[in-house]
Amino acid sequence: MRIEDLNEKIRKCSKCRLSETRMNALCGEGALNARLLLIAQAPGETEDREGKMFIGPSGKVLDELLEIAAVSRGKIYMTNLVKCMLPKYRKPKQDEIEICSKYLDKEIELIDPKILVPLGYFAIKYIFEKNAIPLPSKGEFHKIYGKIILAGDRKIFPLKHPAAVLYNDSIKDEMIKNYCKMRVLLNNDEQEIPHSLEVG
Ligand code: SF4
Repeated sequence: MRIEDLNEKIRKCSKCRLSETRMNALCGEGALNARLLLIAQAPGETEDREGKMFIGPSGKVLDELLEIAAVSRGKIYMTNLVKCMLPKYRKPKQDEIEICSKYLDKEIELIDPKILVPLGYFAIKYIFEKNAIPLPSKGEFHKIYGKIILAGDRKIFPLKHPAAVLYNDSIKDEMIKNYCKMRVLLNNDEQEIPHSLEVG
C-alpha cells in the first residue's frame, strides 16, 4: 500500500463514532522519507476545520519549539494517534484508539522512521505497549519525558504534548531543552552514530 492510498482511506473513514462529529479526518503530513515521526493525540478544533496538522494554538507552540531547536517541519513526519477530533477535547476512548491506531501502525510501516516521538500520555502509552515497554506508574510518569528508549532498531523519545505549554508556561524551558535534544538525536541518527546516544 502507498501512503496516498492509506490517506484516502483515512479521509473517508467512518469506523468509529468520531466520524459523526468531525469535519476532517486528518492524515499525517511531512517528509515521506522522514527519520523522525511525531505522534500527537488527536486533531484540535482548528485542525479539524482546516484539515491540516498542528495549525491551531498547540501548532504555534510546536512551531516555536521546532524553530528554536532548528528542526524543520519538512524534515519530519507528523501524525495523530486518533485521526478525528475528540468532542470537547475529551480523552480518547479505548475502542477508538484500538480501531484508529491501525492507521498509525500502517504509517509507521510505510514511513519506517528510526525515531518515534509520542507526544503526551495516550500516544506514549500506545507506543510503549506496542513495543512491550513497561509504562511507568502515574507518579513516575513525568520521569520518562525526554528519555531515549531503544526498541529494536528504533529509538523512542517521549515528550510532553506542545499544548501542555498553553496551560503551564513554566514548563517551556524544559520543553525547549527536550526539543533541542530531539535535534541532536535526529542529527546523530542521520550520521549513523548511535553509540553517542545517552540511553535511559
Ligand atoms: S477516529 Fe479513526 S477510526 Fe474513528 S472515524 Fe476517525 S479515522 Fe476512522
